[in-house]
Amino acid sequence: MKIICIGRNYAQHAAELGNEKPDTPVIFLKPDTAILQKRNPFYIPHFSDQVHHEVEVLVKINKIGKHIDAQFAPKYYQEIGLGIDFTARDLQQSLKEKGLPWEKAKAFDGSALIGNWYDKNKFEDINNLNFELLKNGVSVQQGNTAHMLWGIDALIAEVSKFFTLKIGDVIFTGTPAGVGKVSENDLLEGYLEEEKAFNIKVK
Ligand code: ZN
Repeated sequence: MKIICIGRNYAQHAAELGNEKPDTPVIFLKPDTAILQKRNPFYIPHFSDQVHHEVEVLVKINKIGKHIDAQFAPKYYQEIGLGIDFTARDLQQSLKEKGLPWEKAKAFDGSALIGNWYDKNKFEDINNLNFELLKNGVSVQQGNTAHMLWGIDALIAEVSKFFTLKIGDVIFTGTPAGVGKVSENDLLEGYLEEEKAFNIKVK
């Protein structure tokens, strides 16, 4: 499987990092080795002093497809979830300045936290879903999927122009504002509406 991530999909987050609102979605990949194994803590990698949390709504693909039209995109997923795109911001910044690819900062082992999955029909409207990240019990990121620059179906259409989507692939749909540093012993808890999607310790 592969993990497809969307960057700058919330205007306020693009602005907080000094990035312009993109004309088309920013897309990057993480390998399957990036998945943080269940019940493991997140270990801050030795090559970064500034790992940021990016809480994001996730979509799990359940049907193979390419060049998917947005109107048919709902046929390609049944479950949605919540996760964290851990980002070595200091390293990403230096790679960005040199015009180099982001993988070392974005796709390292453990950088993709995937929480619980929920049937999409559990929610009234997936295009109006509240989600939140708590750090040590304090709310640090709040988002609503209504504020995405490209909604889930538009993202599936865009991504599938470039990559064949396969069963089990996961799309990270981008983070809202409020990204920040994680430190040793932090406790990170994610909520998708009322559902507690994950609970993870930082080491
Ligand atoms: Zn992200």
